[in-house]
Order: sequence, then C-alpha cells, then structure tokens
Amino acid sequence: MNCPSCSQEMSQEKLDAKYGKSIELDICHPCSAFWFDSLEDLALTPDGVLHLFVVINDNRSTQRNPLGTTMACPRCRQRLVLMHDMQRATRFTYWGCPGDHGHFITFFEFLREKNFIRPLSAPEIATLKQNVRTVICSSCGAPVNVETDAVCPYCRAPLSMLDARQVETVVADLKREAAKRQTVDPTLAVRLLQDRTAVERSFRNTEREPFSFELSDSSGLVEAGLAAVVALIKGR
Ligand SMILES: [Zn+2]
Ligand SMILES: [Zn+2]
Ligand SMILES: [Zn+2]
Repeated sequence: MNCPSCSQEMSQEKLDAKYGKSIELDICHPCSAFWFDSLEDLALTPDGVLHLFVVINDNRSTQRNPLGTTMACPRCRQRLVLMHDMQRATRFTYWGCPGDHGHFITFFEFLREKNFIRPLSAPEIATLKQNVRTVICSSCGAPVNVETDAVCPYCRAPLSMLDARQVETVVADLKREAAKRQTVDPTLAVRLLQDRTAVERSFRNTEREPFSFELSDSSGLVEAGLAAVVALIKGR
C-alpha cells in the first residue's frame, strides 16, 4: 500500500490489539504517519503501543516529508477529508476516507489522541531557552525559535513533550496484563518490567529536571523524549 501523502510504499508492522486480535499497521516513516483501515481501529494493547514507540524511534528519518495538501484513500482513491476530533480534553486531527475505508494520522496526532503529549509549562519553556535556541516542531518538522516562539509558526502546535505520566500509566497497564497472561512480547515487555524501578526513577528526574534527556538545536522534544523511553525499554 502506498502512502496517501508522499505515494511511497508504506511498511507494515504487526501490533497487538485488544481482545486477542492484532493489526497490520501501515506506516510511512518519511511522513511519520500511519494508515488505519477502519476495522483496524481497535485499541492497541499497552504492548502494541510500546512496540510502536520502538518502531517509530528506530526508523526516524532526519528529513521529514511535509504532508500533501490533497490526499487520496489508498483503497478507493476518494479524496481524504480533514477531521477534527476530541479525546478527553485533547484535540487532534486526522484525514478520513468518506467511504469509511480508514484514516491517515500522523504519529504526533496519534500521540495526542492517546494523551501522550502535553504542552510545556512556562518554567519549562524558560529552562528550554537556557539549553537550546531552536527545536524541531514535533508536529510538522519545521524549526522553531524557542527564544521568540512558544508555538510553531508553521502549524501552530504549541511546544510539547512526551507526557512521562502517561507513559508510566502504559507501563503499569502492561505489568497488570503480563501478570494476567503470559503472552506479552518477551523481548520488549519483560525487560521493561524488570527495569521498572529504573523507569520510575527516570520519570521522577523528568519532573524535577524536564530536559534530562539529550537535546540539541536540531531535535524535536517529543522525539528526544521518545528516544529516552526506547533506551529504557531496550535496557540501553
Ligand atoms: Zn509518506
Ligand atoms: Zn476509501
Ligand atoms: Zn509545526
């Protein structure tokens, strides 16, 4: 299947979904976006979500494709429609097929939908300014001057980072599920469970020192946070 935005072939990733099912997710890494078939829109398990984090982090491209202005459904070629949705208090957007074949969503908006993204607080923005002059917008890939802008001048996304508390919730869910059944991917989950104290310690550090992860003028805050989580999952 080809990417609705850049037309390159997408890569498939099999991920655990709830009720014992799995989904074959189509991912375009240069666009940092996914295609969900309508029937695939089942909630991912905690293991599926963390697996996705690893896949996205390991395939991160330095150059991000800007999304196309018109995109077609990979199943029926009808034009995709931009949809605005809301999950709890968080707004997110995606492009849906009018014929209900599925939807195309960026990784950033997917994280928003799942509550993994939070905007920086004013003290965090002050700390950020002491560390770097620019960051890459995690939503669209454009450079943002942190001295003058708290929102991306191109896509209007506020400076945001991965919400450590939500990641911790997923880890806790994973632990509960692993206790119930023995089917959680051992390469990924078991190590994370064993390293749970290390994970918790690092999150406590994150609260005190928000940018304890590696940060440079050319990194995105969400991407840097994701790399830190993936390093923990892989045991460094
Ligand atoms: Zn693409
Ligand atoms: Zn369609
Ligand atoms: Zn942006």
